[in-house]
Amino acid sequence: MNFYVMTLFPEMILQGVNTSITGRGIKSGAISVEAVHIRDYTTDKHGKTEDAPYGGGVGLVMQAQPIWDCYQAVLGMIRERDPENKTTKQPRVLYMSPQGRVFDQKLAEELSAEEDLIMLCGHYEGVDERVLELMGAEEISIGDYVLTGGELPAMVLIDSISRLVPGVLGKIESAEIESFHDNLLEYPQYSRPEVFMDRKVPEILLSGHHANVDKWRREQSIIRTLQKRPDLLEKAELSEKEKKYLDSLRKGML
Ligand code: SAM
Repeated sequence: MNFYVMTLFPEMILQGVNTSITGRGIKSGAISVEAVHIRDYTTDKHGKTEDAPYGGGVGLVMQAQPIWDCYQAVLGMIRERDPENKTTKQPRVLYMSPQGRVFDQKLAEELSAEEDLIMLCGHYEGVDERVLELMGAEEISIGDYVLTGGELPAMVLIDSISRLVPGVLGKIESAEIESFHDNLLEYPQYSRPEVFMDRKVPEILLSGHHANVDKWRREQSIIRTLQKRPDLLEKAELSEKEKKYLDSLRKGML
C-alpha cells in the first residue's frame, strides 16, 4: 500500500514514519510513504504557498495552485508505479481537517484495503476551498481539538492503517483481537512474574485451559467496555448468552 503525503514539512513525516513498525513495513516493501513537498510546486517566484484570506481576517490560507500542481505530480507518480494502468480507480484524497469525519478503527480498516492513499496536510488557517472541491477531498479529523498542522494527523492515520496491511505486523503483534475489534475494548493483559508487589496474575490465565481463558477474556472485554466506553456496546457484536451476561452486569451496577 502506498501513502502520498502532500505537506509543507516533509521531513516531519519521514522522521515519524521511518522508525519502529512502520519503518520496518517500509523496509520490507509492505507499505511506502512519499512525503511530497507542496512548496516544490508553487509558481510564485518567491516560493510562496500561502496568502491572506479574501474577505479579511487574521492568518494565512494555503493557496490552491501549489496544492493542485502537487496533486497532479502525485497522480503522475501513481501512474508511473502502475504503468499498465491496472487500477483505473481514482485514489482517495484525504484532507486532514478538524472539520472532518472523526477517524476510528472502522475507517482505518476500510482505508487499509486501498492500494494508494493521498493525504493533504493543512497549515495556518487552512486550505483554499476550491482545491479541496477539485480533488474531491474527504475531510478527516483525529479528534475535536485544533492542531497547528495536518502532519501529526497524517502520521496517526498512516500508523493505524499500516498495521492492518498484511506483512506490516509480525506474528507477535497480531491486530486481530484488539480494542475496538467487534466494538469491544481488549481484556486486561499480564506477563511475568506471576506475583508483582503482592499482586497475583488471575488464576485462570495460569490454568492452561484455553477455552476457559477465551471465555474469561471475552467476559473481561465486556466488563471493561461497560466500565470505560459503554457507548461502544450499542454496536458490539454479542451472542445471546453474552447479551444476558451484559444485562446481569448492568443490573449489578444499579
Ligand atoms: N482554521 C481551521 C478551522 O478552524 O477549521 C483550522 C486550521 S488548523 C490551525 C491548521 C491545519 O491543521 C488544518 O488545515 C488541518 O490540516 C490540521 N488540523 C488541525 N486540527 C486537526 C484535527 N483535529 N484533525 C485533523 N487535522 C487537523
